[in-house]
Amino acid sequence: MPNVNSPRALPKNYALIYRIVEESGIGRHLTPSDIYAKALKRRPGIGFSTVYRGLERLRDLGLISELYVPGEDAATYEPSGPHHAHFRCTSCGEISDVSYAIPSRTLKELARRHGLTIESERVTFEGRCASCTAS
Ligand SMILES: [Zn+2]
Ligand SMILES: [Zn+2]
Repeated sequence: MPNVNSPRALPKNYALIYRIVEESGIGRHLTPSDIYAKALKRRPGIGFSTVYRGLERLRDLGLISELYVPGEDAATYEPSGPHHAHFRCTSCGEISDVSYAIPSRTLKELARRHGLTIESERVTFEGRCASCTAS
């Protein structure tokens, strides 16, 4: 059995999508349309649904992270990296990374108090970004 968690074992199209997200780097958040446009340049004829299915598969394998930000229509994708929170500017729409994670102490306490098993967390702050605040 090939190791499905290894990017090398991915079908060619999915490997391409993985590389595109990886190359975008930490802090960039690409929509499926962004990724499709980049994929089309490297593999003319690739279908949007292939890109879309690839993103879902890569997300399920934990190779990339999917991010739904309230107020945005589409999910965005980024390399799986260190845990971080996001900030969405309500003025210009920019989504940026914020180096913050809920302390594990807090998560444990919430889980205990409410009888939950917490498996993941998503923190999104909203407000005005630095350049919108300055102008
Ligand atoms: Zn802004
Ligand atoms: Zn991010």
